[in-house]
Amino acid sequence: MAKVPKPAEILPGISYQPPAKGWMETKPEFKPGTYCNAASPKWLESIGYPYSRAWSVTDEDWKLPENWKEIILQGLQDRLDRFRTLKLFFDICVRCGACADKCHFFLGTGDPKNMPVLRAELMRSVYKKYFKRAGMMLGELAGARNLTEDVLKEWFYYLYQCTECRRCSLFCPYGIDMAEMTILGRELLSSVGVNIEWTMASVASCYERGSHIGATPQAMKDMIDFFAEENERVTGIATPVTYNRKGAEILFVAPSGDYFADPGTYTFMGYMLLFNYLDLDYTISTYAAEGGNFGFFMSHEMGKRLNAKIYEEAKRLKVKWIIGGECGHMWRICNQYMDTWNGPADFLEVPVSPITGTKFENAASHKMVHISEFTADLLYHGKLKLDPSRNAHIKMTFHDSCNTSRGMGIFEEPRYIIQNVLPPGHFVEMPPNTIREKTFCCGSGSGFNADEYLETRMRGGLPRANAVRYVADKYGVNHLGCICAIDRAVLPTLVNYWVPGMEVTGISEMVGNALVFPDEIERTTDLRDRDLEGVGETVEEGEEDE
Ligand code: SF4
Ligand code: SF4
Repeated sequence: MAKVPKPAEILPGISYQPPAKGWMETKPEFKPGTYCNAASPKWLESIGYPYSRAWSVTDEDWKLPENWKEIILQGLQDRLDRFRTLKLFFDICVRCGACADKCHFFLGTGDPKNMPVLRAELMRSVYKKYFKRAGMMLGELAGARNLTEDVLKEWFYYLYQCTECRRCSLFCPYGIDMAEMTILGRELLSSVGVNIEWTMASVASCYERGSHIGATPQAMKDMIDFFAEENERVTGIATPVTYNRKGAEILFVAPSGDYFADPGTYTFMGYMLLFNYLDLDYTISTYAAEGGNFGFFMSHEMGKRLNAKIYEEAKRLKVKWIIGGECGHMWRICNQYMDTWNGPADFLEVPVSPITGTKFENAASHKMVHISEFTADLLYHGKLKLDPSRNAHIKMTFHDSCNTSRGMGIFEEPRYIIQNVLPPGHFVEMPPNTIREKTFCCGSGSGFNADEYLETRMRGGLPRANAVRYVADKYGVNHLGCICAIDRAVLPTLVNYWVPGMEVTGISEMVGNALVFPDEIERTTDLRDRDLEGVGETVEEGEEDE
């Protein structure tokens, strides 16, 4: 792993001065910590992806296929034909610069090619050269350039410094969506065997064994059974789970991060407590064992392949509808892609809460409800007995995950839940230009959790961390809440770097802490085994007399 500079070394070095040389003349510098490693051939072979070979990003020769240029240009033509948005986004940018300072990677690195307008130009310049008459004739004068290996390397460097968060598109007067261009650019790279290890390893593991972490069904079951034991130890409530049960009303699908690593594991314990409280007729599949989808971070085709399991399993188990756990990109995929990729899901019913009777019309097509929508509806109808004082040790702010918020408009539900499960005054918002649709990315989304990439991740996460630090310093916030598994995986590293002492948590964990079961034992700790406020405090000698 590359040595990561300390925060005090990074901050003074960020300069937003225009560079001395023109952008076409500047090549990326592949410094350790600023790029993701190349994917190993074994992963490509396992999913049948082309041009598997051993290569390294720092090699001069990337061992591209002989006809790589032809493959890319044909691929670009194909995508221009299929995605009208791509052509539109290439053609309508007026270089107004409104997006320039909106990208967290630009703010954290000062690199002009991390301005969304210029990131798009890296691909647009090639489009102009080969697909636009002015570019063919006038070349650089018309902003066009040849597709060379250096250009391809530049695409790799900067398309893997875009987390597909879409913050820039919010500020663009034309709504130009850099995320879409990044997705398609990465597909082109993948078509000549240029992929990153972290994403590809997760994809191949998911394809072969069912989840990004490569857990076997037995390992998944063992973990979840362990959470049931933990829930019982803390609350006295048994939370058994059924696996692959045919005829259950609901299939529950969670990202594997929630049953594999802290703090997602506590979120999972919260799901189990909630479902048990409601006596919900649900089951978990060991086949659709992954709600997340790293395939989406390399190609639509791979995203579709991994996503197929969810509907297939819903069909096999004959459930009526699906609840999804706290995940960001899973949610964007399930709402925006799943139905057209793998639907129509006409074998499922429009979700109706068996507790409140609410019909989730917003899920009429894809038949899947986000756990935050489901829980907020329960609270709205007064169906949960809660003791918010059990979360009194927590002062929270909320990070809107790009995909659930900007991608899907889930703004109010998590806030509504937080305000119900925390004592009054324990929820504090970050500054308005950093939340809701304007939220800043965690800096590690879209498959960037890799350790070798840590410097860029810490830089990209700086704007988010800055806002967290603000509420920590001003209001004593000690927890950063989120409804995304990637966030729960990467934000602890980010805040530990920029805002030490800050904890990261899912929202269902807070629900699990606060839920009051009629037959529970007296709780003395939260789900993380931390003493509840007022419990476990010993009276110091001499204090009694004061
Ligand atoms: S989508 Fe997000 S990461 Fe990509 S250029 Fe836009 S703001 Fe930056
Ligand atoms: S805001 Fe939109 S139109 Fe303006 S430079 Fe950025 S992408 Fe182009």
